[in-house]
Amino acid sequence: MLQVNDLCKSYHDTKVLDDIRFSIDDGDFFGILGPNGSGKSTLLKLISGVEKADSGQLLLDGTPVENYSRKQLSRTMAVLQQESLPPVDFTVQEVVEMGRFPYQNWLGEEKGNQGHIVDSILHKLNLDPLRDRSLQQLSGGERQRVALGKVMAQQPQWLLLDEPTTYLDIGYQIQMMDLIKAWQKEEKLTVVAVLHDLNLASIYCNRMLLMQGGNGIRVGAPKDILQSELIQQVYGTEPIIVEHPVHRLPQIMLQQGGSFIE
Ligand code: ADP
Ligand code: MG
Repeated sequence: MLQVNDLCKSYHDTKVLDDIRFSIDDGDFFGILGPNGSGKSTLLKLISGVEKADSGQLLLDGTPVENYSRKQLSRTMAVLQQESLPPVDFTVQEVVEMGRFPYQNWLGEEKGNQGHIVDSILHKLNLDPLRDRSLQQLSGGERQRVALGKVMAQQPQWLLLDEPTTYLDIGYQIQMMDLIKAWQKEEKLTVVAVLHDLNLASIYCNRMLLMQGGNGIRVGAPKDILQSELIQQVYGTEPIIVEHPVHRLPQIMLQQGGSFIE
């Protein structure tokens, strides 16, 4: 369980996170939503220990996140940032193998033969045929699958994702979310995902935090967050909320001429 207590963060006297308070239970698929610049990525960086809070607490199973060593934290939490792949020309297999670093000694050696972990991940993500291909020769959807393979190789209990589907077409968006969901179920993973798309968030997340201007506006189930008035207040456009005919979850429909932003 992750408890976030009164978290504050400023950059150059500008408050980016203001007394954020919520908790995430083990096994949640937790969404972080909000307009551009509302502090979502910053919050994710604080949770993963990449950045330090000015005040407040982040407790992972009761222990402050900063008390974990880098390696301990990497075995517990994996992070998929936007554009998280190495810029140089590695192959698909090499990149997935990099995910094993928390289990290696300083020579890059690992106890036992862990090659089967990488093999099974390549297979699961349908990357077998691409394993010797260099990253430069992949499509956006394939690259994102490799990035997911790298964090899967870390075998974490927590997976943090920053907009994992933003540059993908609808087919790859659903593929990516389904792969994450399947992995979550299989390994009892807890997922924390910054998502741009409220409709996608509604059908994959069981709980979500809605942010605005560094504040946590509301935490709840999709039906508590996808509410017309609340969305208007936070995003400056009034959507129509309908029920998804299959999933029975709220979905938003945008309206032309519905901007309230001056
Ligand atoms: P989001 O992910 O919701 O779009 P961010 O967390 O990236 O928002 O940014 C929140 C605010 O903090 C923005 O106004 C952004 O300009 C500012 N910010 C983020 N990172 C830094 C930084 N390293 N230095 C200064 N300002 C930053
Ligand atoms: Mg962001």
